[in-house]
Amino acid sequence: MTSRVALVTGGTGGIGTAIVKRLADMGHKVATNYRNEEKARAWQDKMKADGYDVALVKGDVTSPEEAEAMVREVESTLGPVDILVNNAGITRDGTFHKMKADQWGDVINTNLNSVFNVTRPVIEGMRERKWGRVIQISSINGLKGQYGQANYAAAKAGMHGFTISLARENARNGVTVNTISPGYIATDMVMAVPEEVRAKIVADIPTGRLGTPEEIAYGVGFLADEQASWITGSNLDINGGHHMGW
Ligand code: NDP
Repeated sequence: MTSRVALVTGGTGGIGTAIVKRLADMGHKVATNYRNEEKARAWQDKMKADGYDVALVKGDVTSPEEAEAMVREVESTLGPVDILVNNAGITRDGTFHKMKADQWGDVINTNLNSVFNVTRPVIEGMRERKWGRVIQISSINGLKGQYGQANYAAAKAGMHGFTISLARENARNGVTVNTISPGYIATDMVMAVPEEVRAKIVADIPTGRLGTPEEIAYGVGFLADEQASWITGSNLDINGGHHMGW
């Protein structure tokens, strides 16, 4: 298997950590970004103890300048980025009739504008080298909507429009662009939801349980594989049957 350089945004989070491990297990050199150095170094030490050597680069994905600097740092330390996973994301839930402009703006900036900020500095190199994998981590709620998540669902749905356009633009250059839409995963983001709300969510999932970060990471590994070269512009639902759309 060819060893490539992968950049996973938000790699220190619940799903991100599993994605980083999966790509490293596939033999790739993996980097992720951080905002809080102390927190990130503690995460890096834990990963090292688990046998994973992950490069850390400073960068807030909401800033085009920081995102570009982050990509250039990965290029100079590990080499050109061949696999990009746009995974960093946040929620700032609230019903729309009470939503503040910063709740809207923070979510759009972190989940959607970040995709421009980080993909833009890697795409030209991928096109030139005639190989690339760009994978967006969207959400089930970008497909079906969710009460209290007009901001998040709008950002996550926007990722699909980005994916299918970028897929068309880069298909002849050996670059595939796909989206994964996870259902509810047992990470901090979901465990922060009140228990009674979580119980209702689980009752709605045909498999009767929340997903695991590893089950999402498996999908990333699949789409990043050399053999996934004819899968582009697609959305992979990984949600325990929670939403079965066309
Ligand atoms: P976590 O909150 O565990 O991790 C989020 C990661 O994103 C953290 O590493 C965080 O870094 C990073 N991040 C957030 N904002 C920024 C920023 N401005 N710049 C750089 N990094 C940033 O979330 P999950 O692992 O649960 O979620 C990962 C992705 O999966 C998200 O896009 C989320 O929307 C999506 N998703 C999650 C689902 C779930 O059930 N958990 C379901 C469907 C989709 P820091 O430590 O600095 O905050």
